[in-house]
Amino acid sequence: MNIKPEEITSIIKSEIEKYEKQIKTVDSGTIIQVGDGVARVYGLDECMGGELLEFPNNIYGMALNLEQDNVGCVLLGSEKGIKEGDVVKRTGKIVEVPVGDAVIGRVVNALGMPIDGKGPINNDGYRPIEVPAPSIIDRSSVNQPLQTGIKAIDSMIPIGRGQRELIIGDRQTGKTAIGIDTIINQKGKDVICIYVAIGQKQSTVAHIYNTLTEMGAMDYTTIVAATAADTAPLQYMAPYAGCSMGEYFMHKGKDVLIIYDDLSKHAVAYRTMSLLLRRPPGREAYPGDVFYIHSRLLERAAKLSAENGGGSLTALPIVETLAGDVTAYIPTNVISITDGQIFLESELFNAGQRPAVNAGISVSRVGGNAQIKAMKQVSGTLRLELAQYRELAAFAQFGSDLDKDTQRRLEKGKRLIEILKQDQYSPMNVESQVIILYAAVNDFLSDVKVNDLKKFQVEFLEYVDTHHRDLRKNLQEGKTLTDEIKASLEEALVEFKKIFLI
Ligand code: ATP
Ligand code: MG
Repeated sequence: MNIKPEEITSIIKSEIEKYEKQIKTVDSGTIIQVGDGVARVYGLDECMGGELLEFPNNIYGMALNLEQDNVGCVLLGSEKGIKEGDVVKRTGKIVEVPVGDAVIGRVVNALGMPIDGKGPINNDGYRPIEVPAPSIIDRSSVNQPLQTGIKAIDSMIPIGRGQRELIIGDRQTGKTAIGIDTIINQKGKDVICIYVAIGQKQSTVAHIYNTLTEMGAMDYTTIVAATAADTAPLQYMAPYAGCSMGEYFMHKGKDVLIIYDDLSKHAVAYRTMSLLLRRPPGREAYPGDVFYIHSRLLERAAKLSAENGGGSLTALPIVETLAGDVTAYIPTNVISITDGQIFLESELFNAGQRPAVNAGISVSRVGGNAQIKAMKQVSGTLRLELAQYRELAAFAQFGSDLDKDTQRRLEKGKRLIEILKQDQYSPMNVESQVIILYAAVNDFLSDVKVNDLKKFQVEFLEYVDTHHRDLRKNLQEGKTLTDEIKASLEEALVEFKKIFLI
């Protein structure tokens, strides 16, 4: 064999050029203190805020306090078996969750791990839980409705895709019910839903899962659960995790609905964490940046511009008040961040008006652009008439001598209120809503007894579908109440009332 020295040198040269140091350095530190789910670690000089740290026994932690000579971090699992002097390794990553179609239909914890016993998730990749919100340039204005299927909301407090609408009220006023009904109403509408349960009982979450499954809504829904049994850091991370899962779909051009149930418990979890990390307490013992944790979460709700795919993420955060006090710290914060709020009241709820929406003080600041024309046509006067009714009703309690006009208004108001009542799990499509509200606003119901109105709604809609089939179709296509549609709707009402009133 003939060996050429120049060939050998060239090979050696190229090998030397290609040689890269394969040394992997792992930044590590040692625990100097551990307890209450919080650890202080010495020696992690390069650590990032929010970085995932690896503790012994496969436990992870998140670095939160970057102090001069140590890093304060919260443990994301049990602190059993972790002691002073143990080695902590940096991972170089911010906390991430799995994303992709595979998470749909699943129940996961705040780290994206499945907890529904249906096996591993074949995700498309990972996404950090904290991502900057889309910039102004990336967005477009909110211009498409997100139908909740609830008459009182779709008519007077319309929600648009990409909007943030707060649901606020005392305990047991039907806050969760509105969120769940909205998810159920997205069936067949190509909207992906994410329900984030924060600090709730496990049994409540299981009940919600069963309801959604029964209604066929789990086909397009993910539940992210950090229950009361989970540690405070997991409860704190859950909404960000859910938001990242939703954002993945938004950037793919899809419409996403996310419900945070609820942010009061989220703030409490953050307060627990902050106090354990010895951050200074402020108003109501919440840390100074409690506003920021909610604003950066809700700012991620967006309607993207057409160049960016046109996807959207609609956020419905829920906040619980104490005795209707909306001036407490967390309620005022979240009210000021969101684009409107739906107020639920115990008195209304207990008086049987469910959903217990107080239409007087509930608003939607961007939703008006996101209503179909037909709905705008019927809802315009609805708000006004209800406001007048409330005023009159309060006044009429004092005297019995009421003139004809007042009596008429009171009777109409009573019927409007009755029409806005709606059972749980029975969302109504927008055409039906328009048909019913048209009848109510235009005085077609004055000769129907208030107690019969529920029956009237159901039977009238059936009647329209059997005898005036084109009516619904025309509404669906044109989305406007033309004179022609109005005429045939009025005709249907007169015909139907003849049968109904016997
Ligand atoms: P919590 O403060 O416990 O989270 P919440 O405000 O989320 O309560 P829900 O759990 O949604 O309230 O509802 C409270 C109760 O009211 C439930 O039993 C629910 O079934 C009932 N409810 C809610 N909405 C309606 C409705 N539209 N019609 C009839 N019942 C309703
Ligand atoms: Mg609830």
